[in-house]
Amino acid sequence: MYTAGPGVIALDTVRYVSTRSTAPSGATFSEILLSGLAPDGGLYLPERYPSADQATLDRWRDLLANHGYARLAAEILGLFATEYPPEALRQLTDAAYTAEAFGDRRIAPVDRVGDTNLWIAHLSNGPTAAFKDMAMQLIGQLFEYELERRDTWLAVLGATSGDTGSAAEHALVGRERVKVAMLTPRGRMTPFQQAQMFSIDDPAIANLAVEGVFDDCQDLVKAVNLDADFKAKWHIGAVNSINWARVVAQVVYYFAAYFASGQERVSFAVPTGNFGNILAGHVAREMGLPVDRLILATNENNVLHEFFATGVYRPRRADQTVETSSPSMDISKASNFERFVADLLDRDGPQVAHLFGQALVRDGYFDLSGTAAFAAANDRFGFISGTSTHASRLAVIGELWRARQVLVDPHTADAVHVALAADVPGPVIVTETALPAKFAQTIEEATGSPPPVPERFRGLLSAPRHVTPLPNDAEVLKAWLNDWLSAS
Ligand SMILES: *Cc1c(COP(=O)(O)O)cnc(C)c1O
Repeated sequence: MYTAGPGVIALDTVRYVSTRSTAPSGATFSEILLSGLAPDGGLYLPERYPSADQATLDRWRDLLANHGYARLAAEILGLFATEYPPEALRQLTDAAYTAEAFGDRRIAPVDRVGDTNLWIAHLSNGPTAAFKDMAMQLIGQLFEYELERRDTWLAVLGATSGDTGSAAEHALVGRERVKVAMLTPRGRMTPFQQAQMFSIDDPAIANLAVEGVFDDCQDLVKAVNLDADFKAKWHIGAVNSINWARVVAQVVYYFAAYFASGQERVSFAVPTGNFGNILAGHVAREMGLPVDRLILATNENNVLHEFFATGVYRPRRADQTVETSSPSMDISKASNFERFVADLLDRDGPQVAHLFGQALVRDGYFDLSGTAAFAAANDRFGFISGTSTHASRLAVIGELWRARQVLVDPHTADAVHVALAADVPGPVIVTETALPAKFAQTIEEATGSPPPVPERFRGLLSAPRHVTPLPNDAEVLKAWLNDWLSAS
């Protein structure tokens, strides 16, 4: 059934290397799919990006128009997962990108805002109403496929403040060979986010509400992973935002949105937290997608804007990270940023290792200002950045609603705000990252009325909850996991 497995790898197999090393690691897509960090602490990147020339772009445009999003996804995924048979990839993407899961057979439709230069790529029509579904739905398929290939199983252990955990559970529920335990900070997610996770009633999905904040949850996950014996015994794994397959899945919608816009050359505006979404835009641009600018929008937690404005990258401490009305961007440290910096430094592994492995640990920041590499961030890589605030978010939501009857969520509003301020010539596609219904309170503050709740989410808030309270204690968590995983 499998044409390529370990030992039968074709010469043109794409290999993955760590951002921190110079020697090729020799890892293939299937070898890095289920793993997190590279052994040296870096993140995996393909040795080089595949390129899509004009003929390929034309072919892909037709493919999308005539055969749909899933076929385009299979094509692009095939350039990165070269050892999987194309037929298998088509089955996986067909199963991931369905009209049922995304409520629209176009999967990620694109609309122009009136006669303006703004387009909105709707990436949040999936099961959990956030763009994370675009990647997670495919991850669910890929994980199941790879686990079957290896005849093994996986217990995904994660911590979430909302959107990621929910998207992961909805993508992995019902999959053979996968169990999911997700830690959440008790009482700290929005009612909608809690309902989305806790309404899942499946013995292979465990929601654990920890007495603490999101960082406590993350620390618990780390503590479990540090216990190598426990980790190996129970096949503990992750689906975090550094997973390369998630990035690849996101590359697809940049191409699809470009084709759907019907424009010759576009810029993208992207609300950014962990640098996952916009990294996919960078990869698409490096592959040859005609992207003029990548407009990076942060909220008040503007670590990334600070880097693109000054050349200094200074991750904040958790207690310096403020709670905002675009909460999915409230990050202190952008976990995918190292991949972009590796490209910026022409894949100088030792320097990346120095910056992320030593400088950050020792000094708490690094400074690339005045270097040729930093100058390239704007010129060669097309980045522009900006920051939004609660007030600008409300203003954008209110104005778009009143003037155009277009309703956007607070994160998407951040990107619209920064895009308008950047005032770039030519069309700008804003990536919509969540539906307004998820953030009802802010929408009501901006427009005076609550957002519409899509049909499929009616009744969600009153559905029975399946959640187990846990103290903030790694030993208690391990004992709980031990019981849960040995019970089945
Ligand atoms: C995760 C998320 C973001 C940030 O995306 P990154 O890939 O982390 O940059 C923005 N908006 C919403 C709604 C999200 O869920």
